[in-house]
Amino acid sequence: MPHYDLVIVGTGSGNSILDHRFADHKVAIVEKGVFGGTCLNVGCIPTKMFVYPADLAATPADAARLGVDAERRGVRWREIRDRIFGRIDPIAEGGRRYRAEHDDNANVTVYEGEGRFTGHKELTVALPEGPETLTADQFVLAAGGRAVVPDIPGLAEVDYHTSDTVMRIDDLPRRAIILGSGFVGAEFAHIFASFGVEVTLVARSGALLRAEDDDVSGRFTELASRRYDVRLSRRTVRARRTEEGVALDLHGPGGPETVEGDLLLVATGREPNSDVLDVAATGVTTLPSGHVAVDEYQRTAVEGIYALGDLCSPQELKHVANHEARVVQHNLLHPDEPVAADHRFVPHAVFTSPQIASVGLTERDAAARGVPHVTATQDYGGIAYGWAMEDTTSFAKLLADPETGHLLGAHILGPQAPTLIQPLIQAMSFGLDARSMARGQYWIHPAMPELIENALLALPLD
Ligand SMILES: Cc1cc2nc3c(=O)[nH]c(=O)nc-3n(C[C@H](O)[C@H](O)[C@H](O)COP(=O)(O)OP(=O)(O)OC[C@H]3O[C@@H](n4cnc5c(N)ncnc54)[C@H](O)[C@@H]3O)c2cc1C
Repeated sequence: MPHYDLVIVGTGSGNSILDHRFADHKVAIVEKGVFGGTCLNVGCIPTKMFVYPADLAATPADAARLGVDAERRGVRWREIRDRIFGRIDPIAEGGRRYRAEHDDNANVTVYEGEGRFTGHKELTVALPEGPETLTADQFVLAAGGRAVVPDIPGLAEVDYHTSDTVMRIDDLPRRAIILGSGFVGAEFAHIFASFGVEVTLVARSGALLRAEDDDVSGRFTELASRRYDVRLSRRTVRARRTEEGVALDLHGPGGPETVEGDLLLVATGREPNSDVLDVAATGVTTLPSGHVAVDEYQRTAVEGIYALGDLCSPQELKHVANHEARVVQHNLLHPDEPVAADHRFVPHAVFTSPQIASVGLTERDAAARGVPHVTATQDYGGIAYGWAMEDTTSFAKLLADPETGHLLGAHILGPQAPTLIQPLIQAMSFGLDARSMARGQYWIHPAMPELIENALLALPLD
């Protein structure tokens, strides 16, 4: 039974831990899928590589309003797909080869198979040639999560996609049904609709992107309903195969109904892989959500076993997984001077249309927790650049502490939201109050960040 100083399970953010400082460690890396994990292969990166051409494809429809008559003459789907994966696949393969073959990694053994704990600090990997059991002094659990597939009668008998498979289809469907109202559904609805696909969005809840601030979720639901066939508050009773593809029998406020499409994308959330890894067999504990329980140093309940990323973090974001990987790296190298992960102000973005970005408390959170707060909302339409865009629907909303003027939350819906929000994340992270931020610097006129300046000035402070 081979014994290692360190075993890393998962090559998403887990793969970034090893560098020359681990050269004297005997290390094993275990990966059951493609090197590089979700973000590189089936997550953040390919989706955004589809979103960008989707934004371009959607431009003509919006340009006529401003007096520009443009035309979308076609979308070369296979060419877009092959360009994207022609770039990504070699990066994943290069990562695998670097770890498995390069002299820099002479101390590293790569096991390409699914790992499962079978005892205390004992991991059995299913390899093509048979199972191999590894033991180690230390483990890093970075096994991420997977798409949830709901238990819907008939679903197993129809052809459906998740985000893992939908980006590799050969041809665009004429009609797509997207089941789910979270960020994955919102991003693919934009991609498909921009490329000319008729999209039906089916949601169990009464609004899309419900985790966002209510004003953002409400506005997004209203705008999405203009662009897609949105069915809210629907229970999916059954999935059925049809001649052209698939039908979903739904039950909603108006009674039973059916939606049909040529393609079904199931985008109903993600769950951590702690069960597949059977972390309980090594004594690692989990939360009711299935996430591995860790302390602020990313340590699990078992000494010498760390966890990071989607496996343990409810935020399920790449920048969080990367931050936690840096924390774990430090704590492996400096166990006597551990550093804590900083989860105070974790931002996120949804690359749909319009774009959405958020950090900190929503107004709903602040009210539920009894946090004193003031709010201000600034429309894009109220700043000069928004006039240029003739924007009538986008806005930034801020929450601040009425005593100190420190920002508590920021929520932006509109063009460039993920870029516009960054100075607000910076202000929150470094403790800059709203008034100092607004008046302590120049804001380029007439650029989009004037949205932030005006939102800050609109906060009823003093
Ligand atoms: C469609 C989509 C779009 C996304 N877009 C964004 C975005 O725009 N921005 C953002 O911040 N985040 C985004 N995310 C989330 C982001 O991809 C994840 O938060 C991030 O990849 C998590 O990294 P990780 O290292 O924790 O896990 P992963 O990257 O999932 O890596 C886990 C690795 O472990 C392997 N593994 C799992 N179980 C085992 C086992 N038992 N044995 C061996 N190997 C195992 C897996 O094969 C995988 O390679 C998106 C996710 C999806 C699905």
